[in-house]
Amino acid sequence: MLEQLGGGSEDPSPHAMEPIRYTLSFPNPHTHYVEVRAEVPTAGRADVELMMAVWTPGSYLIREYERHVENVSGSGRDGTALTIHKTAKNRWRISTDGADAIVVNYRVYGHEMSVRTNWIESGFALINGAPTFLTLTDTDERPHEVTLTLPSTWSRSISSLPAMAGTPHRFCAATYEALVDSPILAGNPAVYDFEVDGKAHRLVNEGEAGVFDGARAARDLAAIAREHHRFWGTIPYDSYVCLNLITESGGGLEHASSAVLMTSRWATRTRKAYLGWLELASHEFFHVWNGKRLRPIELGPFDFEREVHTRSLWVVEGVTDYYGDVLLHRAGLSTRDEFLASLSDKIETLQTTPGRAVQSLTNASFDAWIKHYRQDENSPNTSMSYYVKGAVVAFLLDVRIRHVSRGERSLDDVMRAAYSRYSGSRGYREPEFRALVEDIAGQSLETFWSSALDGTAELDYSEALDTLGLRFKTAQSYAGRVPGRATLGAVTKIDNGRLIISHVWRGTAAHEAGLNVDDEIVAIDEFRVRADQLDARMEQYLVGDRVSILVARRDRLMRLDMRLGSEPLKTWQLEVDPVASAAQRKTLDDWLGQSGNSILHGLSLTPDHQFRHKKTNDFET
Ligand SMILES: [Zn+2]
Repeated sequence: MLEQLGGGSEDPSPHAMEPIRYTLSFPNPHTHYVEVRAEVPTAGRADVELMMAVWTPGSYLIREYERHVENVSGSGRDGTALTIHKTAKNRWRISTDGADAIVVNYRVYGHEMSVRTNWIESGFALINGAPTFLTLTDTDERPHEVTLTLPSTWSRSISSLPAMAGTPHRFCAATYEALVDSPILAGNPAVYDFEVDGKAHRLVNEGEAGVFDGARAARDLAAIAREHHRFWGTIPYDSYVCLNLITESGGGLEHASSAVLMTSRWATRTRKAYLGWLELASHEFFHVWNGKRLRPIELGPFDFEREVHTRSLWVVEGVTDYYGDVLLHRAGLSTRDEFLASLSDKIETLQTTPGRAVQSLTNASFDAWIKHYRQDENSPNTSMSYYVKGAVVAFLLDVRIRHVSRGERSLDDVMRAAYSRYSGSRGYREPEFRALVEDIAGQSLETFWSSALDGTAELDYSEALDTLGLRFKTAQSYAGRVPGRATLGAVTKIDNGRLIISHVWRGTAAHEAGLNVDDEIVAIDEFRVRADQLDARMEQYLVGDRVSILVARRDRLMRLDMRLGSEPLKTWQLEVDPVASAAQRKTLDDWLGQSGNSILHGLSLTPDHQFRHKKTNDFET
């Protein structure tokens, strides 16, 4: 059957360039291979050069996808073998013998369960464009057609790509970039179709296994879509597909008209886990506007063969992470306490990460390729996530605008204005985005930018808290830590019954004393510490006590003297100040939208927004 949603064209639009036509087949899916046959037009050239992308937009690391490619061969349509030379790690040059089209065959191994890679097994396949398709190096606006030949036990192939009439499992991407931006899921997933504001939406669940509550997730995804539509005031897609792989992995990757999510089959069973899934879905949905269409000038058209640097990921990811949670709350899908807890966790992560004093937000964005996506044991000391700090800065910026405009304007207005001014082919330069914020705020934000974006000074929460009538909770036991208790200040893990240091954070007692990552803590003073006894042993000491730590470093015993530090006395958990004024409470209510404190409020929205649910879990052919 055709897996086309509304809006797809019956035929690809007439195009000046001949398409590349791919056929994907899965003769032995249990061996994790997809076989690719590509018919490549040559335009009469004596040879053509093909390339494979080395990274995926939205995930900033050189991945060398071509390492999973095997047996690249070229032939004429009659099967005559053609000469092929590898010219770069990800490039192949093939002689054409003068033919107007050649056939390129290869196979791709797919066994990495991530939102950006391929996964092929007996039951289903996730096919992503970047790690699958060789394309002409001059490929710009060329259409790319894909036909899938499925194993007999698979019934469906689903993508946001327009389906082509005539043949099942056949799609057409208008460009290579659209192909890379449109993952395909094939197998027998549970499919939930629903309409929101006249647009077709589809939640595709691979791996429900009778555990994940797909109907509930579809209903709540509809509420998310409706709230995002209301926020932006415009719907830029004809249809939207959420490919939800319930495969005990994690993550999400945004696309122009779809997203890939990965989650646990238990994600709808506990409130905490489900809230995490909803936040992920809402985050990726916000990207439909912010990131995919409203984008920094550097992020498209893409160079798929080398790194692309931008200072604007604080907008692309930070603002998105902030609004993912805000709109989830406004949709009535999280309580005010849940929303504040989620925001608080971001603030606490920022305020307890030593790297915030080292790496600015714009530098974190620029260096995503070598820092955020290349984390090691020292990363918390040297870098700061642009997701985390970007979301916190978005929060402060939102409240600043609300404060100085006396509630007349907000970051909501900035995002809508930015979308109307900069979405489209050109994109914005980072200074243009700042200038737009200042326009909406009606004041210069130079001081704010220099501390929040360009510098590493501590953020000031006092204005935001005062404006909204919030405060940080007073210290109490949290996250397994007891404020004020003596501590080594090192993060430990238990490995085969041994107590091993996994992180030494800058500025802690452990850092000063020279405890190292991978040291095994054997004893404190003259007494052995068993792996699960560190907390109990620390209770025997006071902050400032001098102790001798016996560690094994690469099996060699050594003693280190140190003075014990203190667990932080402050939490970063927000709560409404019980003595907040009526004006503060009004600002808080304005910020957090119409929803009250009950998630039932939001669920009551569903009947009147044309929610239409159809579960099609049967194995059609
Ligand atoms: Zn994102």
